[in-house]
Amino acid sequence: MDNRKRQTLRTVILKRLAEVSRQAGHGPEETDAEERLSDPVDQATQERERDLLRLFRARENAEIRKLALALDRMEQGSYGICLSCDGEISGKRLMAEPTALLCVDCQEKREQKRAAATR
Ligand SMILES: [Zn+2]
Repeated sequence: MDNRKRQTLRTVILKRLAEVSRQAGHGPEETDAEERLSDPVDQATQERERDLLRLFRARENAEIRKLALALDRMEQGSYGICLSCDGEISGKRLMAEPTALLCVDCQEKREQKRAAATR
């Protein structure tokens, strides 16, 4: 991968990281939900909302972790190298998914394996 492409991807990752962190920081606070609990009928709904929020946040954190890992790998010079076969991950794939750790072939193989395991 050439330097210019790596710089572009770095910018993409940093931008996405800023976006995800901003969303994570400005989500509705638990205390707000607490205050709105005055009506007991709504309580079940509120609890469900809170569960969803927690799920959502966990996913955001996973996204943050993935983005941070991509930046780490960039520093170490291992960015864009498939974790499974050491082959190069195509620039097109990385532009679509900057946090990709596997090349298309290995990703497909893994997904097939996962599909077979859940069948
Ligand atoms: Zn691979």
